[in-house]
Order: sequence, then structure tokens, then C-alpha cells
Amino acid sequence: MSADLRPGDGDGTRCVYAGLPGAVPGEPFLPGPVFAAPYHLDPWQGPAASPNGYARMDSPTRRLLEAAIGELEGGDCLAFSTGQAAVTALLLTVLRPGDTVLLPTDGYFAVRAFATATLEPTGVRVRYAPTAGPYPSFEGVRLLLLETPANPGLDVADVTALAAAAHEAGALVAVDNTTATPLGQRPLDLGADVVVASGTKALSGHSDLLLGYLATRDAGLLDAVRGWRTSTGAVPGAFDAWLAHRSLATLDLRLARQSANAAAVTELLLARPDVQGVRWPGRPGDPAYPVASAQMRRFPGIVSFDLGTAERVGRFLTAARLVAAATSFGGLHTSADRRAQFGDDTSPGFVRLSCGVEDTVDLLADLTAALDASLA
Ligand SMILES: *Cc1c(COP(=O)(O)O)cnc(C)c1O
Repeated sequence: MSADLRPGDGDGTRCVYAGLPGAVPGEPFLPGPVFAAPYHLDPWQGPAASPNGYARMDSPTRRLLEAAIGELEGGDCLAFSTGQAAVTALLLTVLRPGDTVLLPTDGYFAVRAFATATLEPTGVRVRYAPTAGPYPSFEGVRLLLLETPANPGLDVADVTALAAAAHEAGALVAVDNTTATPLGQRPLDLGADVVVASGTKALSGHSDLLLGYLATRDAGLLDAVRGWRTSTGAVPGAFDAWLAHRSLATLDLRLARQSANAAAVTELLLARPDVQGVRWPGRPGDPAYPVASAQMRRFPGIVSFDLGTAERVGRFLTAARLVAAATSFGGLHTSADRRAQFGDDTSPGFVRLSCGVEDTVDLLADLTAALDASLA
């Protein structure tokens, strides 16, 4: 369990200590990854005698990571091999033929693709609503999945109000917390029943692993999803779980710089008449700001904007020194993704820029030079 964390501890303190075992002389702060598939069993009592029998069910490295993420989300956590594994585990555990699920029109496109390819053919009714609303009646809805801020458009949903309305109608409420991270918002505190997220992005933040998780205070749901995970096997390996836990310690620091960079980049982009559609939920004046500023504890490092054409985005990325052309987001290095190249339904010049932890002044200079060069 967490080493002596107290309710009033700040984000930096909680990130550093989350999930660490208590101090034992001669032992490391964060125990190294335990590489094992089977463990020695007690010859008489078998798996009943020890917490570890087989790593699909039990892994000491994964348990420490789950304690850490659970500490930050304020619930019990199950780690998955990827964010998609966590999201689909929730959908397939909860939804039965005839049930209705309400998904965001503007959320992560792979979730919508999964709903079309896999949920609808099993007889699950899939409905959509834009993250910023308006939302239909929740009557007859089994599961409401919100994604806020939504990736990649960065609209936000009012979790408290929507959870109350959905609960009134008997629906379960899930929030995809990938973009915000548990330092950006704690959906379980806002009234959501369950959080799902990709840990691949800002949570682990080093662009070197895939991870997903689910967190909830509902013991029945936790058991059902744990059963799903055990039978489908979508668990992270020990090394990835350990790397993610090690990386979690700097989440507060990384987000602080990423968010400060995003604020500065937003101002730079807004001042340029050659850049359209700049969105960042942390800017007073952004349509998402009223809800985001009331609901979020800090703003993400992602800014979206439109450069008009795919060609101009290509020239911008070629000219930039400090902006990697890459998908994903939340890493140490600033990166930009022209989403339409993945078949997303965004416009051809739409860019999702993920601010890294470079010095703000360097990043601004490089963006200015690259945007200027892209006009040529
Ligand atoms: C990336 C992402 C996922 C999927 O996570 P993977 O780790 O890539 O499987 C789910 N939801 C959102 C909002 C994401 O950005």
C-alpha cells in the first residue's frame, strides 16, 4: 500500500509515493519488476496459500501500479495491456444484447470503430451525443461513456450534471480520463461510477509503453471486470507496469510544464491570422473553459488547431525542429498529429499538438519559425 500518504498531501507528494511499499531497510523504494508467469505453489494448498500463482491473475508488480493509480483516481484500479483493452473490457462486461450505450461523437475514434464493428452486431444499440451537448434523454440507456476533454477536439462535458441526470434514469456513468489524467480531474469524485483510460499517453508520459486502466468504487463492477480481464488475458507485462509506475512519480512535474507550454502555445497560435480553430480548454474565452475551469484541477498539454491543408501541415512538420510528427500524446517531446491521416473524421489541416516538457521559450521560437516556413 501507499507509503503513509495523508489526505491533505499535494499532487507532487502523492505522485512520488503512490503505490510504494513502506520503507524496509535494504529494500528499494520501488521494487523492481517481478518477471514470472507461474510462481512456486504450496504443494498442498496450491494457489490458496500465497497471493501469486499465475501472472494473468496476480502480479506483484502490477498490484503496486494498481495501488498507485487507484490512489490518484480515488478508487480501486485494474491495469490493462492498453487503453483500448480497458475501454472494451468495460463495454463488454456491462453491455448485453438489447442494451443501449451512449458514446461521444467526437471522442477517441477507435472506440466508435469498436462499437460499429463489434457491439452493434451483437445487438447492442449504440447512440451518440457530442461531448459539449446537447444530450438526449437518458431513458433506457444502460451505459453513458463520456470522454472529457474529448480527444482530439478538446470539448468538455459537465460530469457532475450529466452523471446526476444519467443516474436518475438508471444508467451507469463512465468517464474516459485519458486526456485529463487523474491529476487533471477525478471523475469518481464528480459522480462517475467508473473511470477508464489509456496510460499510454500523459499518465506514463515517456512514449515507451502501452497501458490501460479502469478505476471504480463499485466492488461488484470491479469483480466483474476483473473476471473479464482474467478470462480474456489483456494484462500488461511486468516491465511495462514497472516502467509506468516509475514514470508516475514525475506526473505532477511533467503536467505542470506541458500545461504551461500549452497556455503559451495557445496565445502564440491565436495571435496568428494564418492559424484557424485554436482550441485549448484552459483559455478563458475557449467555449470549453466555463465547465473545464469549474471541473478540472489543471489543464492538459494538448492544443488543437487547423492549418487548412495537409500540405501545409507537412511543411510545418518538416520545418519544425522541436515538434515530432507522431500520433499519441502526453509525452516528454512535443509532437503533432494530423488526425485525418488515420481516417479520423477531422478536416485535412486539423492538428492535435501535444506540448512536451521543453523550455517554453525554445518551443515558441521553433513553432513560430516552422509556421512561418509553412506559409511558403
Ligand atoms: C489513446 C486513447 C485510448 C486508447 O488507448 P491505447 O493505450 O492506445 O489503447 C482511449 N481513449 C482515449 C481518449 C485515448 O486518447
